[in-house]
Amino acid sequence: MSRIYERVAYIGLGLIASSMIHAGRRAGLQGEIAGTARSAETRAIAREDGLCDIVAETPAEAVKDADLVVLCVPVGAMGRVAEEIGPHLKPGCTVTDVGSVKRAVIDAVAPHMPDGVHFIPAHPLAGTEHSGPRSGFAELFENRYTLIVPEGDVDPEALSRLEEFWVGLGANVEVMDPEHHDLVLMVTSHAPHLIAYTMVGVADDLRRVTDSEVIKYSAAGFRDFTRIAASDPTMWRDVFLNNKDATMEILGRFIEELMSLQRAIRKGDGELLFDYFTRTRAIRRGIIQAGQDTDAPDFGRGKGAKE
Ligand code: NAP
Repeated sequence: MSRIYERVAYIGLGLIASSMIHAGRRAGLQGEIAGTARSAETRAIAREDGLCDIVAETPAEAVKDADLVVLCVPVGAMGRVAEEIGPHLKPGCTVTDVGSVKRAVIDAVAPHMPDGVHFIPAHPLAGTEHSGPRSGFAELFENRYTLIVPEGDVDPEALSRLEEFWVGLGANVEVMDPEHHDLVLMVTSHAPHLIAYTMVGVADDLRRVTDSEVIKYSAAGFRDFTRIAASDPTMWRDVFLNNKDATMEILGRFIEELMSLQRAIRKGDGELLFDYFTRTRAIRRGIIQAGQDTDAPDFGRGKGAKE
């Protein structure tokens, strides 16, 4: 594949940025790569590993002359970073982000984008429970979806270039509006994380009663929950604080369903339970048929199985 952007700047050098850098390098999509991270420690690792051609001390310095700027920081930090880079952006460049929530990011970032800069939000539906500059790998986006979430009038050429970039990174690309994105992702990713955090929290309380039995005899279901609940606390705190409406909507429905299952169990309504579990099993089959997972028995423990 040929070069799409001459210079790309990554703000934040964690799992998603480092995976984009590796995949983009492998495919030859980006010329010079500039990057920066908040801590001196991460910047030192990026230098030591040669992750970027230029490791800048600040976001303002990193975006200088960049044709594409990718914001790869937690959702709650996007607005402050946008404010800092705004005056230093090259006219005509594209700014995108990879945040897991879209409405709040658009509201925080868009006001800081100067005229002539194309702001096109995006969200790769790929991840692992690992974070940091050494957690990335080139295959992360392969056969996963990246949702591009433009708002208002967006330059069609800038949009198709960004789409081409994501396709080059290995992703399937679809365009979605921000509100729809936030609701869909609440169902498919955010609420499952909240439930996993809760279940592991409950087990942790229980552990005080049963000592190490929860760990020692942890069955596959619980182990899958612990993998999800090991995800980065900052990232997930920011996701819930910035997607409150959809969280409330889906949690409300979840609690209602849980209570109806609770009633069925209390009343011994096996038919209801059997029908319910049959319906949910079909969803799993649908995901496998759509090529978004395999039916290997180690479900959930391979690379890139999350988000
Ligand atoms: P990560 O591995 O934890 O890396 C985050 C990066 O952001 C680090 O370089 C960190 O700098 C920097 N950072 C953290 N807090 C900051 C702040 N307050 N101001 C400026 N920089 C800050 O995170 P990630 O998994 O790549 O996630 C990055 C973005 O991708 C998030 O918005 C997340 O919602 C989204 N996303 C994540 C996944 C996933 O599964 N992980 C999937 C799709 C999208 P230091 O290293 O110096 O601390």
